[in-house]
Amino acid sequence: MSYYLTTAIFYPTASPALHSLFEAIGADALARYQRLLGNQTRFLTGMDEHSAQVEPLARQHATDPQSLVDKWAANWRAAFDQFEISYDRFIRTTDSDHIEASVEMVRRAQATGDIYKGTYAGWFCPGDNEFKTESQLVDGHCPDHPTLELQWLEEENYFFRLSKYQEALEHLYAENPSFCEPEHFRNEVLAWLREGLRDFSVSRAGISWGIPFPGDPDHRIYVWFDALTNYVTGAGFPRDQDAFAKWWPADVHVIGKNITRFHCLYWPAMLMSAGLPLPRQVFAHGFMTIRGEKMSKTRGNVIRPEDAVALFGVDGVRYVVLRDIPFDRDADITLRGLVRRYNADLANDLGNLVNRTVSMSARYADGALPSVSSAQAPADLELRATAGQAISDYHAAMQRLQFDEALASMMTLAGAGNGYAESQAPWNLKREGETQRVAEVLSVMAETCRLLGHLLAPFTPATAARLAQQLGAPAPYDARGAGGPGLEQLLTWGAGPHGWQTGRAEPLFPRTELPEEAGRLDDTPPEDPMRDTASPGVAT
Ligand SMILES: [Zn+2]
Repeated sequence: MSYYLTTAIFYPTASPALHSLFEAIGADALARYQRLLGNQTRFLTGMDEHSAQVEPLARQHATDPQSLVDKWAANWRAAFDQFEISYDRFIRTTDSDHIEASVEMVRRAQATGDIYKGTYAGWFCPGDNEFKTESQLVDGHCPDHPTLELQWLEEENYFFRLSKYQEALEHLYAENPSFCEPEHFRNEVLAWLREGLRDFSVSRAGISWGIPFPGDPDHRIYVWFDALTNYVTGAGFPRDQDAFAKWWPADVHVIGKNITRFHCLYWPAMLMSAGLPLPRQVFAHGFMTIRGEKMSKTRGNVIRPEDAVALFGVDGVRYVVLRDIPFDRDADITLRGLVRRYNADLANDLGNLVNRTVSMSARYADGALPSVSSAQAPADLELRATAGQAISDYHAAMQRLQFDEALASMMTLAGAGNGYAESQAPWNLKREGETQRVAEVLSVMAETCRLLGHLLAPFTPATAARLAQQLGAPAPYDARGAGGPGLEQLLTWGAGPHGWQTGRAEPLFPRTELPEEAGRLDDTPPEDPMRDTASPGVAT
């Protein structure tokens, strides 16, 4: 089976903030999970480089737009690589095949009769490149960019006949509601649909940064036919028909909840106009908030990625954000809360179970353990049943992109493993000379740790590999999670080694502590939001 997933392409900034990494980490966990299942997986992410702010910013930096986005894209790729984001392509909307795809999408809409010239007048927010209706404004500002001045724009534009697709989209949601998940964000989309769809502007005149509009060189393609088209470009459209047939339609577009209108209404209509199949699903995630506000540089309530890495390591950051923020809704986080989570789950429960398992195996059995199939005591079978349940809950949660629930299921098993160790007390058995039972108990603990490592692999890939190494049960897949026998098989009780030879115990997740000055972010009231208007930092 093949599986194609995408993130939104990100609004160009000098480097990614933690909330952009959050989306990429979530999508990466899903991509790795699909590879581990044995599916041929393509994972697309990238940058939306034709934003209206690039040209003025380039002037400010005394450079040209292309050099500016080249530099920024390199920073983003480096950050994504550091965070183990296993993308197959980092697409940039300045890539030549993407320019070709955008032009082709416009041409197809023109051929269908869906593009016409009209006059647009309205308030335009440079933060998200959107015209705002009066009802969307809060105190005369865009609610997402309260520090940016709106511009009243009146211009001749080309429009896309979205209104023509009203019925087709109503039909889509009647037939296939899960086209947009989760339900609470879908309900917003359905409400917009009931209000009636308005045609939207697809070109802008008087700018030079952007893709020339087919048939009218005075215009540039404006946002949607450029940005949204990246998903088909990444699948091979229009040049590589074989690749496109293999990867399209996408299985899921992972996006932020602020851009559902464009992905759940505009994009399917554009694809219908072009005569292309629709993606199977758009999944909108919520935002991490701090002190109740969306994290943004403009608001000054940002956890810098490098500070998070200093506290938790890369894998620790990946874990705590996906464990503490349900992917389908907003969640308020504090650094203290993340530190507590990291220490409780990873340093204590899980880290401790692995550490005691590997060190007792060395101490009591020279690292040589029998196959777990020899362990048939009631407590052994009970833990086996708990593992079976945790694994099936984990799969169910992963299918729904409920990463926090998947990780909670995994921690249930870690907790049960520690409970088992306490109740079986191999240290007492050893003292009493029950050599065979000690080995059985340790093999049950090792098997539990092995399963935990596979459950962790989509989330903390590097540490999962180290865990497997210590157990002497190396995982047979590559650094991107591909090439193994399939997760279903690996997650079967008893699929571990028939004769274990465990390695040397080393802490997987060293305890961390919040330095006093870092805790200030949790306590300081929000800074004056008018102070810094440099970067809106929003994902498109
Ligand atoms: Zn805005």
